[in-house]
Amino acid sequence: MSETIFSKIIAGEIPCHKVYEDDTTLAFLDINPVQPGHTLVIPKTAAASVWDLDPTVYSALMGTTQKVAQRLRSVLAVPFVGEKIVGVDVAHAHVHLIPFSTVADYDARPANDEPDHASLSAMANKLAF
Ligand code: 5GP
Repeated sequence: MSETIFSKIIAGEIPCHKVYEDDTTLAFLDINPVQPGHTLVIPKTAAASVWDLDPTVYSALMGTTQKVAQRLRSVLAVPFVGEKIVGVDVAHAHVHLIPFSTVADYDARPANDEPDHASLSAMANKLAF
């Protein structure tokens, strides 16, 4: 499996704004969020796509997405949390969780600006559990 930005995050070689971690999975804020609180949930084992995961790891990943989605919904007081699997940019399995209130918010494009680490850090402090 080739190295990716997410395998480097797992290895602690580059930082992330962590929301949740257990033995099998890690959740951290997307560096270029569609909405505040946009979180990525990844397995710690390498697989290019969610669809390549061992079923046990897939179940653990989905279990973590549920926990994190519940956390986003309650802390951010949003009515909805969308789940997306895309995977065109980073070849390490990951699930997007996007808190939103309206369909327009969910369908919004990310800003693509320089990462706002101060806001991401404040958000991670609020969400971490
Ligand atoms: P996808 O592969 O699902 O199309 O998109 C990958 C996602 O990873 C994008 O939303 C992008 O903003 C996010 N991303 C890319 N590089 C980094 C990074 O270094 N740190 C974090 N936290 N997110 C990243």
